[in-house]
Amino acid sequence: MEILFLGTAAAEGIPSVFCRCETCRRAAEAGGRDIRTRCAFLVNKHLMLDLSPDIMFHKLRYNLDLAAVDSLCVTHSHTDHLNVPDLTFRACPVYACIPDEKPLKVYANKKSCDHIRDGMLFEFAAQEHPSFSITEIAPGSVVESMDLTITAFRAVHDQREDCLFFLVEEGEKREKNFLQINDSALPYGEFERDLARVLKDRKLNALSMDCTHCREKGSRGHMGIEENAALQRRLFDAGLADENTLFFANHFSHNGHSLHRDLTEALAPYRITPAWDGMVLNI
Ligand SMILES: [Zn+2]
Ligand SMILES: [Zn+2]
Ligand SMILES: [Zn+2]
Repeated sequence: MEILFLGTAAAEGIPSVFCRCETCRRAAEAGGRDIRTRCAFLVNKHLMLDLSPDIMFHKLRYNLDLAAVDSLCVTHSHTDHLNVPDLTFRACPVYACIPDEKPLKVYANKKSCDHIRDGMLFEFAAQEHPSFSITEIAPGSVVESMDLTITAFRAVHDQREDCLFFLVEEGEKREKNFLQINDSALPYGEFERDLARVLKDRKLNALSMDCTHCREKGSRGHMGIEENAALQRRLFDAGLADENTLFFANHFSHNGHSLHRDLTEALAPYRITPAWDGMVLNI
């Protein structure tokens, strides 16, 4: 399985769009891994987890063929994860020319689906368009995208909707997997039990954890390094992760006041790697 980390910032990006704070100034000066666009993932070039507001930049920077994306799984309706205006540009033939086009399969919670339908209404004067097949999903839903199986879990993030995160598994026996946990605070108490039901006796190969607050304390909807370490302990204790599991931190905010080297240093004792834009993970 190939996972491309398209962006690794929280909603406002780093440097943040309108910001003059010290962190953003130093990040802009440093460049490289300190420049972070809004979070999303591309798996095996055909499954997208979230549609970032920076998708146009991602397409250019990574030379992506987004017509190859057959499925989009959306974690929740916040604008850094669901960019409805750019989604409508997948409509054929007016905005996109895709020979033998099949509808893009979009899976999202109710609120996100409502946003998408509103966007369609605005753009096409109808809530549906033949280029899209939109399916409402909820925690526990399982969907397929070619060689991948995706299971949705409940995130602890925004009580106004059923926020989700996804386990992506590959292969006939689901022998490879990647868990994406953002946006979320520390997962709910029975999360290990629910994850074990899906994984059976398999371990996690790799996971990416919400680290919005960086070296600061986590909040009701996001984690920082302390909570990432606590989640790692929980997964070890439950036998869901072992010494071969790769841990990554992701979705960083400028309010966490940490440059890439600060994150690398603070995460090192836990063997957690701070992700960066353009990072490719092969499992
Ligand atoms: Zn976010
Ligand atoms: Zn800032
Ligand atoms: Zn959010």
